[in-house]
Amino acid sequence: MKRKSGQNPDITKNWKPATLAIRGGTARSEWGETSEALFLTSGYSYDRAEDAAARFAGEQQGMTYSRLQNPTVEMLEQRIALLEGAEACRATATGMAAMTAALLCQLSAGDHVVAAKAAFGSCRWLTDTLLPKFGIETTTIDARDTAAWEAAIQPNTKVFFFETPANPTMDVVDLRAVCAIAKAHGITSVVDNAFASPALQRPMEFGADVVAYSATKMMDGQGRVLAGAICGTRDWIDNVLLPFHRNTGPTLSPFNAWVVLKGLETLDLRIRRQSENALKVAAFLEGRVAKVLYPGLPSHPQHALAMSQMEMAGPIFSLYVGGGRAEAHGLLNGLELVDISNNIGDSRSLMTHPASTTHFGMAEAARLEVGITEDMLRLNVGLEDADDVIADLDRALTSIGR
Ligand SMILES: *Cc1c(COP(=O)(O)O)cnc(C)c1O
Repeated sequence: MKRKSGQNPDITKNWKPATLAIRGGTARSEWGETSEALFLTSGYSYDRAEDAAARFAGEQQGMTYSRLQNPTVEMLEQRIALLEGAEACRATATGMAAMTAALLCQLSAGDHVVAAKAAFGSCRWLTDTLLPKFGIETTTIDARDTAAWEAAIQPNTKVFFFETPANPTMDVVDLRAVCAIAKAHGITSVVDNAFASPALQRPMEFGADVVAYSATKMMDGQGRVLAGAICGTRDWIDNVLLPFHRNTGPTLSPFNAWVVLKGLETLDLRIRRQSENALKVAAFLEGRVAKVLYPGLPSHPQHALAMSQMEMAGPIFSLYVGGGRAEAHGLLNGLELVDISNNIGDSRSLMTHPASTTHFGMAEAARLEVGITEDMLRLNVGLEDADDVIADLDRALTSIGR
């Protein structure tokens, strides 16, 4: 029985991402199960009191408590680390737990963070509200402008924080250039890679120090559970993140880890098909709405940059329908197949109005500054036949006179 077939680095280093997504990190129990076992246990028992003492002292291998370790969660962490090309990974309960932990674990009062203006609403709340509350200064910039990163650096700058492509404006950040600026100034770059997933973009290959995920999105990929992950060097995960993670407890439940392990098995297939579908749908919409923002289309101002760091452009894009909220809500209300839903990365096509949902909490001026207008919609293209999705959008557009 191959108990740990996905754990020998001499073997796994030659495996391609599609193989790693199915077999990376597998550790079988004494039963030799083919599908990963689900260890729903909060604690672990010891043969002798001395064993418990040795494990707590770090002198004996083994698990002590599921806030700290769990076999199912550990399989997921190893699999994500392998997919990312990272030395280590720590899973979290949600994507936001991952972003919060990745920032707070390394920041103190008096430090400074440079972050992208265009970001997921809750990520903006971290930089605009949470960090300043603890005496951490933040500057938000247009992340597409590489020179703006360099210009925003202060002597106390510790972290660069951004997503690419960004939610929902689809801004693309030059990973190689921005991570190089960070490195040159001893700054840690933290990249939120939720939109692309490691199947399409591996920021560490371009010099990123820390890559954080909402695994709720493409990794689960079927709209079932919330999960997150943080990847980094072994030293950073063990010595910077772990003290924070162990003691504050944003731990992923084993059940959700198991669901995400199942999701990863089809990540490569799903994201490639969804990217193909998204390209077809985006090309259709280009002729029918005021503007489409999809890095996969040659009309996107950063198309060449996006395609130099992503294998495909992914399933998510935004569009300006033209007009205002009435037109945007009218289009949503005319949909029969595509759901009105603010999730992304799902195998179902989902559409949302960011200004009144995901970015509702952002000040209106800040929304408008990054281009989140009343006529903007964001679409996650699923695994349905692209022609059916196009027909649905076509009908909904006709219903608002387009
Ligand atoms: C969804 C999302 C998050 C938050 O993830 P949750 O799992 O919902 O907590 C963070 N960043 C980006 C870019 C996202 O799309």
